[in-house]
Amino acid sequence: MFNDAPAACDLLVVSPHPDDAEIGLGGTLATLAARGRCVWALELTRGELGTNAGPDERWSESVAAAQALGLAGRAQLQLPDGFIDGDDAGQAAALVAVIRRLRPRWLVTAPEPRRHPDHQATPGLVERAVFLARLSAWQPPLPALRLHGAAALPGAVDRWEVQTVGHVTPEDGRPSLLFDIGGHWPAKLAALACYGSQLQRGDGRRATVINDPAFLQRIEDRARRWGRQAGVEHAEAVTTVQVPVVSDLPTEPWRS
Ligand SMILES: [Zn+2]
Repeated sequence: MFNDAPAACDLLVVSPHPDDAEIGLGGTLATLAARGRCVWALELTRGELGTNAGPDERWSESVAAAQALGLAGRAQLQLPDGFIDGDDAGQAAALVAVIRRLRPRWLVTAPEPRRHPDHQATPGLVERAVFLARLSAWQPPLPALRLHGAAALPGAVDRWEVQTVGHVTPEDGRPSLLFDIGGHWPAKLAALACYGSQLQRGDGRRATVINDPAFLQRIEDRARRWGRQAGVEHAEAVTTVQVPVVSDLPTEPWRS
């Protein structure tokens, strides 16, 4: 690690759209926030191609969910919904500018479910931006963004190395770690309930995959399945690129 400044947040979750962070990691975010960790969520797009509700309503829902989880802050870039592209220099620049300001120790992407092209492209864009954020010779400016929880982002450093990068483990994937979300399952449900326009039918909303009640059931089934593996009630799973480096035997259990 060659960072010249301390981290400005413990965990930054980067997602393509409003609601993805909560679907993938809401329990982990609530647990960490309750422990006093500084946790931020960043959406790459405003979700303007959503079937139900426009960007302003979706932003209001995101702010309410951030409050339900106790996040330190939330930011939303204006990259084009439907066209996240890991090879787009402008999109990488926007993400680098945010990473250098929030200076996260951990960065996790929430690309599940993967049927949406933005979800498939986000990990690649993040991987590129995490690498480019280390190169002081490239200094892209901060683009327009929406903010909740802070009047402005912290000042930028000219390079930043994220300690650990991961993504929400897909249903058929192998976790690198299982996060025991303890008694914070209700906080996840409360955060998901903030996304009425996306996750609930009625009020004239058009039917989608994610406003089918079966979708919420799937989220719970997954948390219980990871929980069974972890020996707890509910857990969420993350797959990391790196492996941990230890200098003693960990005290926490490892499960198969
Ligand atoms: Zn999404």
